[in-house]
Amino acid sequence: MIETKTLLAHLPTSVWIGNKETAAAAGGTFAVYNPATGEVLLEVADAGADDAAAALTAAAAAQQEWAATPARERAQILHRAWQIVIDRRDEFALLMTLEMGKPLAESQGEVNYGAEFLRWFSEEAVRINGRYSESPSGNGRILVTKEPVGPTLAITPWNFPLAMGTRKIAPALAAGCTMIVKPAAETPLTMLLLAEVFRDAGLPDGVLSVLPSTHAAEVTAPLLTDARLRKLTFTGSTEVGKILLRQAATRVLRTSMELGGNAPFVVFDDADVDAAVDGAMAAKMRNIGEACTAANRIYVDNAVHDEFCAKLTARMKALRIGPGDVEGTQVGPLITDKQRKRVAALVSDAVDKGAVVATGGDSYGDTGYFYHPTVLTGVSPDARILREEIFGPVAAIVGFDGEAAGVAAANDTEYGLAAYIYTNGLDGALRVTRALQAGMVGVNRGIISDVAAPFGGVKESGLGRESGSEGIDEYLETKYIAFP
Ligand code: ADP
Repeated sequence: MIETKTLLAHLPTSVWIGNKETAAAAGGTFAVYNPATGEVLLEVADAGADDAAAALTAAAAAQQEWAATPARERAQILHRAWQIVIDRRDEFALLMTLEMGKPLAESQGEVNYGAEFLRWFSEEAVRINGRYSESPSGNGRILVTKEPVGPTLAITPWNFPLAMGTRKIAPALAAGCTMIVKPAAETPLTMLLLAEVFRDAGLPDGVLSVLPSTHAAEVTAPLLTDARLRKLTFTGSTEVGKILLRQAATRVLRTSMELGGNAPFVVFDDADVDAAVDGAMAAKMRNIGEACTAANRIYVDNAVHDEFCAKLTARMKALRIGPGDVEGTQVGPLITDKQRKRVAALVSDAVDKGAVVATGGDSYGDTGYFYHPTVLTGVSPDARILREEIFGPVAAIVGFDGEAAGVAAANDTEYGLAAYIYTNGLDGALRVTRALQAGMVGVNRGIISDVAAPFGGVKESGLGRESGSEGIDEYLETKYIAFP
């Protein structure tokens, strides 16, 4: 096991362009905090518009050669990067726990999951195919080819510091695109360490740049209107996604948007209640509830409601809360004090509107940004907690009567990322999965993310799909060549 001090002493902490660390052009730095203690971990260079321009110049200069690099070579670099991340698993895991707060066991899970995108897309890189056909009229031949979109900007959130990066970087590089990453200011260290891994894996200069910054818009807005940039891929809130879509419209950029979620978790009257409780624990508590796929609204048929609530409450009460790097911790801190206050405000609003606190309902400890695992029952339909993403360890439960009411409640949102159902009836499962307005539906499963499956949402949860065999299409343009 690596020591925190040793790890922090060797990390890149500057702007990363051309496989090198450089100080921010304007010279400033910002602090990265440990949310379990509120203490500063490291100071990191604070990139601005000049650094962004330099990164785009490097990306544009490298684009043509990278696109022309044989797919097998691109694949081998991705595969080497996968191997290095796995070899350095302990460093990545501890680093994510330190800057994001999740328990070490979950960080280790994210290292495997995040690295897997590198391996998956190393395998996809050599299977980019077009097609040939003949015109029905008999006097034309149709050749369809795929080409990389070109230099791409990726903007990533803090909740999965490694996986949200690799899920974009791997398909972009596999397709032959260069990429500039603007990680979240809360968690830039993991992405900088990943940039170092890519250098060591042999990625050519300029293909990948990382711009840590507290001035997100100042860094990204000029890139989005620069004709050399061809694509934006974003994971974050719907609110920021809409701002970015407006900016991307200026030059009709290709966009992939993974935005907010408000996932329903629906337990029908024929469900195995114990399995549903297990699933709810996973869907709710993975990543301290800070996931866009987190079960945000738990709807339980009144036939099994009381049993489900009692069992879920007992499980939530028993969770061990504490710093993520302490052995046995199951629930870490929230990312910031601001986020903890947001969660607390959503709980108070629900209680004001009649919800009952079955467990939790308050902060924990004197240092760090901890909030107790919480169960709310009898949540009123007009409570904010059913409308807004919680991003915290709070299970909001509502009873319903019958399948139609459960489906209607689940679809009553402008979001459409993930949905979960628990039922033992095949017919019901088929009916309900068809009726749910979501990009991803879990049946009797609380965790659905999979490197081989298309991840993405409908409605205001986003555009496009990441991972799976679909993921690489987001970074490819289709060209039709007409022959006589
Ligand atoms: P969250 O609420 O999870 O922090 P955000 O949507 O605010 O989600 O942030 C996701 C990412 O988008 C982060 O990297 C953040 O710095 C970036 N971001 C936030 N606002 C803007 C903006 N106006 N322009 C560009 N990037 C932004």
